[in-house]
Amino acid sequence: MYRGSITDKDLIDKVVWECDLCYHFAALVGVQHYVANPHDVIDVNVNGTMLVMNLAYKYEKKMVFASTSEVYGRSLDIPFSEDGDRVLGPTKIDRWCYSTSKAIGEHYAFALAQKGLRMVILRFFNVYGPRLDSIESGRVASIFIGQLLRNKPLTVIGDGAQTRCYTYIDDAIRGIIMAAENPAAEGEVLNLGTDVETSVMELARLLVGLYGKGEIVSITHEEMYGLSYEDIPRRVPDVSKAKKLLGFEATTPIHEGMKKTLDWFIRYFESHEKHV
Ligand code: UDP
Repeated sequence: MYRGSITDKDLIDKVVWECDLCYHFAALVGVQHYVANPHDVIDVNVNGTMLVMNLAYKYEKKMVFASTSEVYGRSLDIPFSEDGDRVLGPTKIDRWCYSTSKAIGEHYAFALAQKGLRMVILRFFNVYGPRLDSIESGRVASIFIGQLLRNKPLTVIGDGAQTRCYTYIDDAIRGIIMAAENPAAEGEVLNLGTDVETSVMELARLLVGLYGKGEIVSITHEEMYGLSYEDIPRRVPDVSKAKKLLGFEATTPIHEGMKKTLDWFIRYFESHEKHV
């Protein structure tokens, strides 16, 4: 195993040359980074990705590229189908830099595929599970769980009516392997996730219920992320392509996946943070 950055040319050359199949999943992700550090998001996700893909092409390795449902932006064309339009806010709003950085990766993968790269692009929908980010940071599930464990109120942005389709990690991994191994997926872009929609308020209430206690407060998105943030009202995949090509369906119900995630974070908190 090697630890390092995808912007490290020598390391990535070695790693890609040695591998049989290249899962390119490294990226700078998380809304707090998009608004606080757009420079690094773009640098790592664009320059790092081009480096990895150029080497996969050079050494003739098949590549699975982790893209994102964020590429659809705030399109209202629900459910998002792979051929649907991307609808983003202005470039002055830093939130959209991640979407754009991943879309460049997709374009670049298609460009290299024209020259012979074997690849598949996966757009993930709010994947969650044990080890998701650190407590109280990252994505909404880890933020809410951290707040529960520290006896702080759960910060629901706005009225909490905005929705996401929370996809449990085990389902995502199953889909990734199916996509990597099935020749039918080669050269394709696929949504990977559940199409079961959950509002942020429902998620907050579910986690409070699973934990047995907890308060919920409403805050504005300016309070949470400042002025360079905009939200996405609904994000739902059209899952028919992954089902047809791979036979893939995400099956873990949200209460089951969130329970496993919460239990893991409780254990982590007990053994790492509580005693510090
Ligand atoms: N959200 C929230 N409270 C928080 C963090 C996030 O209500 O403390 C909401 C956010 O506005 C969004 C949803 O939860 O609608 C998912 O946010 P996340 O940062 O996980 O990623 P996104 O799906 O927006 O990329």
